[in-house]
Amino acid sequence: MRYRRIPDETIRRLPIYLRGLLYSSEQGKESISSDGLADFVRINSWQIRKDFSYFGGFGTRGIGYNVEKLIKEIKRILKLDVLRKVALVGVGNLGSAVLAYPGFKMYGFDIAAAFDIDNRKIGSKINEVKIENVKKLLTLKKRGINLAIIAVPREAAQRIAERLVKAGVKGILKFSPCYITVPKKVKVITIDIAMDLARLPYYMPAC
Ligand code: NAD
Repeated sequence: MRYRRIPDETIRRLPIYLRGLLYSSEQGKESISSDGLADFVRINSWQIRKDFSYFGGFGTRGIGYNVEKLIKEIKRILKLDVLRKVALVGVGNLGSAVLAYPGFKMYGFDIAAAFDIDNRKIGSKINEVKIENVKKLLTLKKRGINLAIIAVPREAAQRIAERLVKAGVKGILKFSPCYITVPKKVKVITIDIAMDLARLPYYMPAC
C-alpha cells in the first residue's frame, strides 16, 4: 500500500511508539489504547492517533490496538521487517561503545562489519566483530551491507562518506560533528549529543 506524504516528525516518532510497544509486548500485553501508549511514551494520545491516521488508523474504536499487529505494521512502514546489516567506520571511544551495545538487535540491526585506519586495532575483535582495514570498505557491496555508521574524526568524515557511497551505502548515521555532501539518493542522519546538550539549559529554571 502507498501512503500519502508522511511528515518527517511522524516518521521520527514511529520508532518511539515501536519501543513502547516492544516493551508492552515483553510485559505480556495483548492490546493497548492510545491513552495507554501515550502514558508509556509520553506523547499526547491525539498526536499518536494523528500519526497513525496517516497509515489508515490501525485501531478498533474502544478496543485499542493489538500490540503484535501494530509492532508488525510499524516495522513494515519503517522497513525494519528484515534483518539489516550495518557497517561501522571508526572504532575509537564512540565506535567501540556502539559495537558493544546490544540494543540494536531488537530493531533488526546487526553491526556486521567494522573498519578503522589504525593498525593496532585492525584484526582485533569487539563483540565477535573483527575490525578490518578501512581500505576494504568496497567489499560492503558484495556483503549486502548498505547502511553505515561514521564515527571517525570530523576531518575524515567526508572522505569516508564518499567511499561508503562508492561501496553502495544508501543510509549513513554520522556522529562526526560536520556537514558532509552526498548524492541525493543517500540519506544522512547526524547524531550530535553536544547540540542536544546545548539546548538543555534553556529549559531549566533560572537559579
Ligand atoms: P576517537 O578518536 O576515539 O576515534 C576515532 C576513530 O576513528 C579512531 O579509532 C581512529 O583510528 C579512526 N579513524 C581515523 N581516521 C580514520 C579513517 N580515515 N578511516 C577509518 N578510521 C579512521 O574519537 P571518538 O571519541 O570515538 O569520536 C568519534 C567521532 O564522534 C568524532 O568525530 C567526534 O567528534 C564525534 N563525537 C561527537 C559527539 C557529539 O556530541 N556530537 C560526541 C562524541 C564524539
